[in-house]
Amino acid sequence: VRQDLDDVLRGMDGAPYGQYKRLSGVWRLDGGALLRVVRGQADPFAPPARLAVRLDPATAGLPPELLTSDDRRRAVAARLAATAAREAGDGPLRVDGGGQEVLHRSSCVVDPDGTVTLRLGAPLPGRGRRIDGPAARRLLCGQLPELVAQLAFDRLDEAALWRQVACVEDSVALREQLPALGLVAFVADGAVLPRRSGVSDRPARGPEVVPFASPPELRTTVRLPHAGEVSGMGVPEGVTLVVGGGFHGKSTVLRALESGVWDHVPGDGRELVVSRADTVKVRAEDGRRVARVDVHAFVDNLPTGADTADFSTDNASGSTSQAASLCEAVEAGARVLLIDEDTAATNLMIRDARMQALVAADREPLTPFVDLVGSLHRDHGVSTVLVMGGSGDYMEVADRVLLMDAYRPADVTARARALVAEVPTGRTTEADRFPAVTHRVPDPDSLDPAVRGRPKVRARGADTLSYGEDDIDLRAVAQLTDSRQVAGVGLALRELLRGGHVDGRRTLAAALDRLEADGGLTTEALLAVRDEDFAVPRRHEVAAALNRLRSLRIAA
Ligand code: ADP
Ligand code: MG
Repeated sequence: VRQDLDDVLRGMDGAPYGQYKRLSGVWRLDGGALLRVVRGQADPFAPPARLAVRLDPATAGLPPELLTSDDRRRAVAARLAATAAREAGDGPLRVDGGGQEVLHRSSCVVDPDGTVTLRLGAPLPGRGRRIDGPAARRLLCGQLPELVAQLAFDRLDEAALWRQVACVEDSVALREQLPALGLVAFVADGAVLPRRSGVSDRPARGPEVVPFASPPELRTTVRLPHAGEVSGMGVPEGVTLVVGGGFHGKSTVLRALESGVWDHVPGDGRELVVSRADTVKVRAEDGRRVARVDVHAFVDNLPTGADTADFSTDNASGSTSQAASLCEAVEAGARVLLIDEDTAATNLMIRDARMQALVAADREPLTPFVDLVGSLHRDHGVSTVLVMGGSGDYMEVADRVLLMDAYRPADVTARARALVAEVPTGRTTEADRFPAVTHRVPDPDSLDPAVRGRPKVRARGADTLSYGEDDIDLRAVAQLTDSRQVAGVGLALRELLRGGHVDGRRTLAAALDRLEADGGLTTEALLAVRDEDFAVPRRHEVAAALNRLRSLRIAA
């Protein structure tokens, strides 16, 4: 450990930019933290240098009660990352502070012994192609230690830290209780579901916001470690249909459930809106690639004569893309599906009596989801929450019908049952069973980002993963929360290959099981692949990205 960073930078002033490589090694900063340059910066226009700053337990000063579980450490680390990002502001130091979700992030990690590691980017200052010594000293010996000093426990808002820990622990406890309660999701009374705008994930505010109020029929009370008794709406297993007029808040409820797989920061409004960890949003996505997916439950007798039990295309239609995404989700282990009419393919969702009469069954390749959704639950234990305001056909198959009226939910199951008897659809049921999903074995070579020469994997914005020569389009993967999680997916894909999980014999589901069992979906494992800003994704997002990789080949 070297102590003389200031002197060394002073001596470098005016030297060729490449001399910055002499910073490799470990340096003690003012205040005691240790600085390591993880990756240097080749020239003034290259991506910023990557730094890791470590505070030992005594310097960080975190009390042992904040370190007792992985959830606590995640909550504390997220709060520290947000603090550091706020402190860095628009300045040169770049810290990923995270958003509304409390995720495992590489930008800040808290170890069980209380060690805090902050990872950040720093553009090393230059004058032309020469080192700007004074600016480098201001940055690394001034701004950096000042920022790090803000992370010491006695500088933090202790009450806010504990609120974040309590919030995360309650949400985790609630999610764990769902299966025993026979629920797939829970929305607490008083929750604020709408967001500020289409581009801001912060809670909406103002007098027009209607806090969530559960309908009496679905009201459930849970006991949480910190909040105590909390009442709210329990969404039961099975098929739940959400109906209501346009603009009455249906999609907003569904989006809150999508996000309910993550924990949220205090003040988000969705702190106690929680869904099971294996909940996956499914939507139509025409143009996507599909690699040997068994979609015959939904599609057969294609005009091309293609085998739909082993279906591939470089350019899926709306309906086939949604069918493939749904089968893939179940293959990867999803046990709750979320579908919104706004993003679903109508012809995959419904076919009414008149259309059945006009187009003979043997001329129509599609079996509508309405005839499969019940069996998906009965025979496979996969529940569905579906938003559908435009067709009443699903009343027939729904276990529960929820009506959104001016942002207030009502349980209209009984009325819907009566209507099923009073107003028959006249439909003929087109399927009585959802067949077992077929498991696929991915070919490891096709997962290698270097297959076509360029090994680089990198997140581009919030919904594209640049993967070797290919771009994986993740716009339809709704539960990815930000670009850092896209980066995390890229690392996890590389870990699937590097760790030998995808080996040409194992099914995709088995490979994901093994990745998880090996601790592959942790900050530590993904950092070992590459030290960069990322958030840890779920297996479902990893699978979704793999399924959208255009080079993917299926061995069997
Ligand atoms: P739907 O899917 O039923 O057409 P949306 O969920 O898209 O309706 O909501 C329509 C609008 O109402 C959106 O701008 C949304 O932000 C807003 N909104 C949703 N829920 C609430 C609420 N509880 N309070 C106030 N505004 C809401
Ligand atoms: Mg909608």
